Amino acid sequence: MDIFQKCLEYTEARDAIKQGFYPYFIPLNENEGTEVMYKGQRLIMCGSNNYLGLTTHPKVKEAAKTAIDRYGTSCTGSRFLNGTLAMHEQLEHELAEWVGMESTLVFSTGMQTNLGTVSALVGRDDIVILDKDDHASIVDGARLGYGKIERYRHNDLEHLERVLKSLPAESGKILVMDGLFSMEGDLADLPEIVPLAKKYGARVMVDDAHGMGVLGKGHGTVAHFGLTDQVDLIMSTFSKSFASLGGFIAGKEEVIDYIKHHARSMIFSASIPPSNTASALAALQVMREEPERIQRVNDIGLKMCEGYKSLGFDIGRSVTPVVPIIIGDDMKTFLFWKALFENGVFVNPVISPAVAPGHQLMRTSYMASHTDEQLDKVLETFGRVGKELGII
Ligand code: PMP
Repeated sequence: MDIFQKCLEYTEARDAIKQGFYPYFIPLNENEGTEVMYKGQRLIMCGSNNYLGLTTHPKVKEAAKTAIDRYGTSCTGSRFLNGTLAMHEQLEHELAEWVGMESTLVFSTGMQTNLGTVSALVGRDDIVILDKDDHASIVDGARLGYGKIERYRHNDLEHLERVLKSLPAESGKILVMDGLFSMEGDLADLPEIVPLAKKYGARVMVDDAHGMGVLGKGHGTVAHFGLTDQVDLIMSTFSKSFASLGGFIAGKEEVIDYIKHHARSMIFSASIPPSNTASALAALQVMREEPERIQRVNDIGLKMCEGYKSLGFDIGRSVTPVVPIIIGDDMKTFLFWKALFENGVFVNPVISPAVAPGHQLMRTSYMASHTDEQLDKVLETFGRVGKELGII
């Protein structure tokens, strides 16, 4: 059997393109943050993770340019060897202070942070316990580790306790879950999960890719719940509120030092480039200087949740600037996406396996830099198109 046979048989994406129904890999010609251009058409961007709108902030852009002038375009090597800059360590110190943990370690992406951290910690006799809605990078990190994987139904405390109770007391255990779930915009029930983990001797790691910079006055989901001294590890990324690329893990000094010397996705990969390091540092500075941005994106989240609910859409349990419009059917989701796109609104259709069957949804997400006028136009368009298609 030719190993390429499956590729020849895979025509789904090409068929969808032919039918004009392909909502992925859309090449944008311009991106001004809240508005983008596609083939001469202007769209309001409601599908980006640029929560604080900092990708176009003058201080963040300037920091990236200055770093290129000073350090060049790449570190051309791993953190472990030639690729550590003093700027990487400065970023780690500032992040540790921002999240309220002893120490942090910066990786080249959030994906690599989860792959490296989870696989380094979960050895042969250990068990990693995951929420069924966890991000793919957590699942893949767990698969890379040599330990056992257990999963519990999304935010289901009873199921989680049953799973924890069934595990051998002598095994090392770690629970890993998103803080703000990336697709449905709801929060991990940390005030219940953390004591449960302690009761059964499990450590807790929170992936706060989406909550950092948004919740807890920007300090993240764990800070939002006042649990910083109870959670063992906090992970986040620079590809969202930090308007850059990269990721980090925060925790106790000895644990971070162990990860630093065992995480293969960091040791065997080139370090985060100077421009991205500098823009992440600048974004952190803007978070300190302009807290009104953090307030604004939260206000917008509430406005949009209320707006969609009053139009009659099902937004699940979102209470954040990530607002899902649950549709529950692949074809309806694609039809809705296409009509919204043609009417100037960019959103992301999400079908299974990214979400459970029956939960197919339109993922919408908002930025502090969206204007009220843009947001009202988005709601008006959703309402009009949603009625035309019989979704509401
Ligand atoms: N964790 C979560 C919850 C995410 O949503 C993402 C990115 N979508 C990542 C990790 C990976 O981050 P990055 O884009 O920096 O690789």
